[in-house]
Amino acid sequence: MIERLQIEEIKTDEEAIDAIDSERWRHGFLCPRCQCIKGYRHKNRKLIECAQCGKQTSPTANTIFHGTRKPLLDLKLLDLMSRGCNLSTSAISKAYKIGYATLWYHANIARLALRVLGLVQRSFIDCDSLRRGLTKQAKGDEVGERQPDLFFREEAPEILITAVTNFLILVFTGVSRKYVQAYLTQYELFLNQQPHSLAELLEAAFRSRICRRELRNYRSPPAVLIDAHSFVPA
Ligand SMILES: [Zn+2]
Repeated sequence: MIERLQIEEIKTDEEAIDAIDSERWRHGFLCPRCQCIKGYRHKNRKLIECAQCGKQTSPTANTIFHGTRKPLLDLKLLDLMSRGCNLSTSAISKAYKIGYATLWYHANIARLALRVLGLVQRSFIDCDSLRRGLTKQAKGDEVGERQPDLFFREEAPEILITAVTNFLILVFTGVSRKYVQAYLTQYELFLNQQPHSLAELLEAAFRSRICRRELRNYRSPPAVLIDAHSFVPA
């Protein structure tokens, strides 16, 4: 019985995969190769075989969980971030007793996946305005593409830019420009502190395409987005 599980009930990686499997096809199967909606469950493995083209699809294929070896950690991090977390990656890595490099990957995938939980009406911040908080280097630290819809957005107020910069410095002792959007999402969720059900978190996760492989190629755009709505100046 895995109907609408809560995250606290999931204790093992196997149960995490069961939960992902159950939510992935909740609205029906869709073959990623030919878009056929008819498939058959594999008898022994967690796969669905497309009735039309025969492609076998796992519940994690083409999602942020693609190739994950720690699905339980992925779910825990989605939950932790969505509740609002002001811990650095190394603080979480110590709390979870998981090596920094491993935790870093899983945490950034979770942060970027949760971007879709924010309000659609986000403001933008030019990365140059955050430079005091951009003290770390990342491999391939170039700037990404400019968002096509920036024209319709407002620039975030100065006071929010200062608050974001302080968060980046105080919590992370600065971040890299390459991944600054991920840390801004953590800040945004920290301000929001909205509880989300496991189903909502997984729905958000399924909309993100950034799995471990894509994370290396990810680059924050030159202007990053933030939900200024929940920000109340102190
Ligand atoms: Zn197919």
